[in-house]
Amino acid sequence: MSLLHKFFLLYFLPLLIAQAKPLKTIPFNLFFDDDGINCENFQYPSEILAPVPYLKECLSTIDVLAVFPGDPDYYNSIKVANCRNNYFPVVVIYATTISDIQKSIHCANTLNISATARSGGHSFEEYGNGGKNGVMVIDVQEFKQIDINFETKTAIIGVGNRLGEIYHKLNKFGYLISAGECINVGLGGHATGGGFGWTGRKYGLASDNIVSAEMVTANGTFISPINLTHHSDLFFAIRGAGNAGYGIITSLTLKIYPVLPIITSITISYLPEQVELAFITFAKVAKNFNENLSGYMALRSKNSNTYTFIFTATYLGIEEEARSAVKELIELSNPAYIKFEEMTWLGIVDSYPPFTRQPFKITSYTIPPSGFSQEAIRALVNFVDDSECQAIALLDLYASEAVSSISINSSAFIHRNIFGVLELELPLKGYSKEVQIKCIEKHLQFRQEFQAKYTSYFSYQDYIDKDLSDWLTRYYGPHVNRLIEIKKKYDPNNLFNWKQSIPTKLP
Ligand SMILES: Cc1cc2nc3c(=O)[nH]c(=O)nc-3n(C[C@H](O)[C@H](O)[C@H](O)COP(=O)(O)OP(=O)(O)OC[C@H]3O[C@@H](n4cnc5c(N)ncnc54)[C@H](O)[C@@H]3O)c2cc1C
Repeated sequence: MSLLHKFFLLYFLPLLIAQAKPLKTIPFNLFFDDDGINCENFQYPSEILAPVPYLKECLSTIDVLAVFPGDPDYYNSIKVANCRNNYFPVVVIYATTISDIQKSIHCANTLNISATARSGGHSFEEYGNGGKNGVMVIDVQEFKQIDINFETKTAIIGVGNRLGEIYHKLNKFGYLISAGECINVGLGGHATGGGFGWTGRKYGLASDNIVSAEMVTANGTFISPINLTHHSDLFFAIRGAGNAGYGIITSLTLKIYPVLPIITSITISYLPEQVELAFITFAKVAKNFNENLSGYMALRSKNSNTYTFIFTATYLGIEEEARSAVKELIELSNPAYIKFEEMTWLGIVDSYPPFTRQPFKITSYTIPPSGFSQEAIRALVNFVDDSECQAIALLDLYASEAVSSISINSSAFIHRNIFGVLELELPLKGYSKEVQIKCIEKHLQFRQEFQAKYTSYFSYQDYIDKDLSDWLTRYYGPHVNRLIEIKKKYDPNNLFNWKQSIPTKLP
């Protein structure tokens, strides 16, 4: 080896290695890795492959991973939970710092491109991909901070954390947050539109547990803190409508609660011939359940290979107390199957069946405190039984002090004095496109009549549904004008816009 070679190996090579930046790759997402099984490989529309002039140049000034149409990672970068609509962004930016977001927003503004935030990609209508073609997607899944303040019993949590990650990390210190059940849902889109789950009747919705937030707004300003005293208008908006186009939230400070050593899982199931009695009994007694109990009932078609009506719940306490909490339901409805199991908190969290990417359509309904009439139950059961595609009705029981005692005027979340939220799901995988379209049409027809006759006027915004009429009022009730004013203040040029973002003027 020549002297020059030795010199290069000893001095320059280590320097070059130290300076080389690691090759950036998009974060691997296990839950969306289903290529060719549930979702078709889609065709990009040709206009999306034509580069937007100066976009690459503008973004090249940022040291950030940006994936463009035609790049090898593009298909993976636009995989989200639902694959029914399939929108094609002009770029997906994997931001890791606040400055990345600010500079990306600067490019979007300069080049007149709409922008959208994406945290966990679980929007029912794929709004994390912009809700239309040609949007700049700013993915914030790398915002993974979790800092606990043991004195104030709060935690600053980065919006990119999945609910499962949060439950696991906080559990190490004996705490939990009150939020949804699906472990792969992202905090950013979830907690800002409601967020209800395992402990909702005891500790409330995730959005009600937000004490502070940080956000990059449409002009690139980083605002912190957003709370009851600073930017209180924005604080009002982001608790219920924070996922509807006010800016890119980077962290939320949430109240945390101690994990109990024993939590009891409850399963109560019924056969097809028992459904009506079970449903009526449930509607009558469930609102009085002890608030340590949170749960949902699932109604499936009588032709499915499982129980038709299943109540699944968690009780924050031991089996004996859990049995007493549901005693009346059991005595009055005589279930076919009953199971109580004492578990740890993480045992409960990890028991939720994993969700994989697939096409689906969901509508939602808030149910008034009176529950359901017999006629409503029959209509729902008949729809589920007769649907050509598989249909499932899931009813989350809300009725509790934790939800109803909060004033409707304190935040953008209005669904307070209710029995629960009903979600009517059509999982569409395995059906041809024609059958999918037919099933969705029938679903939407049914929804129109069912909502007009049997439920309240309102729907739940975290179960976003682009076919919902009068959606502004159904999601945000009396707050629509106030939300529009706040939108005008923080995003006057409507940078963050899609079909169901808060508009800058009444439609
Ligand atoms: C399988 C599954 C299970 C679910 N389970 C529950 C449940 O148990 N309880 C419940 O209440 N809900 C549940 N949901 C609904 C879920 O809460 C919403 O779909 C939620 O909006 C998803 O958030 P995300 O960040 O994962 O999605 P994304 O698609 O990333 O975002 C959803 C919306 O929020 C906006 N957004 C995302 N991040 C930010 C941010 N950082 N700043 C500002 N806006 C942002 C996006 O632009 C988009 O409009 C479930 C959904 C699915 C698909």
